[in-house]
Amino acid sequence: MSEFSGKTFAKASVPAGAFPVDPRTGFTEECRLCPRECGVRRDSEKGNGFCRSPYTPQLIRAAAHFGEEPCISGQRGSGTLFFTGCHLSCVYCQNHTISRRMIPGYPADADTLRQVIDSLLEQGVHNISFVSASHFSRPIAAVLQGLNLPVPVVWNCSGYESVSALRELEGLVDIYLPDFKYADEALGRQLSLAPDYPRTALAAIREMLRQTGPFCLGEDGLLKKGVLIRHLILPGYIENTLRVIDILEDELPKGAFLFSLLGQYTPIRALQQDGSLKRFPTLQRTLTKAEFDRVWDYLSFSSLEDGYVQEPDSAGEEAIPAFDGTGLPLSSFSQ
Ligand code: SF4
Repeated sequence: MSEFSGKTFAKASVPAGAFPVDPRTGFTEECRLCPRECGVRRDSEKGNGFCRSPYTPQLIRAAAHFGEEPCISGQRGSGTLFFTGCHLSCVYCQNHTISRRMIPGYPADADTLRQVIDSLLEQGVHNISFVSASHFSRPIAAVLQGLNLPVPVVWNCSGYESVSALRELEGLVDIYLPDFKYADEALGRQLSLAPDYPRTALAAIREMLRQTGPFCLGEDGLLKKGVLIRHLILPGYIENTLRVIDILEDELPKGAFLFSLLGQYTPIRALQQDGSLKRFPTLQRTLTKAEFDRVWDYLSFSSLEDGYVQEPDSAGEEAIPAFDGTGLPLSSFSQ
């Protein structure tokens, strides 16, 4: 389990039914759900866009997760749903086996998603959290529209989001957990093929804040609504992190959001072996103490006061959840 330190720093009633068919397209669409705006047609089984994902959400794990910030995990865990595929493509991806679809997901129609959500609620989780699901946001929004969940809905995403797609989630999501990965366009291009990352993520986070308003922690210490922005410090790219702190200070309303600084970057062995990290030698190691201390000092003198810090000693592949079909309704699920 990951360790965070602070800086002052029931069962749902679920209707039955499948995903609504888009009468114009018959369950397919020219997809512009994310900033890639591929414009390709996706059907229930195939996707030809950057994310290579069909329209039907591809679920890989649904379980209580205890590695999030304390205001998300609490004592009983966050009810996380992990999906395969991704629209961002980070060379160092900590979840590369699912983001690159090396493991096939389980096609989860609306009934399956409801069933999985019910099961998580029965386990007593504090919230229902969709992880890296932006490329499936429309069918998931359709499911959420039919539910009245007794716990907050969390949207855990890369920050590289389309404002129009976020608007389809308005009123359905209580808590946004976006990353803010890059302040530097060149770095966004090099590491994630997304030179427009900084301005796109900033616009997305502004939209999230517009929807949720300032963050609200309950008396139980759990986040009820709001935006918690995460940033993973990348070894060798400390200036990027300092500029991210600058942007959050300068561009977003003070005191409106929580900030989580993550120091547990882990070089994934498989990505070292397949050459993905070859051009980026500093991404083949963990963060040094000197790097972390420099960021910590900078953050301490910033106006960002509410949030969490995860220190580098939390690093390690063992913190990555098993993407093995846990929690999926088919006992016959196999990779
Ligand atoms: S969700 Fe996938 S297909 Fe749609 S625009 Fe994004 S990358 Fe392209």
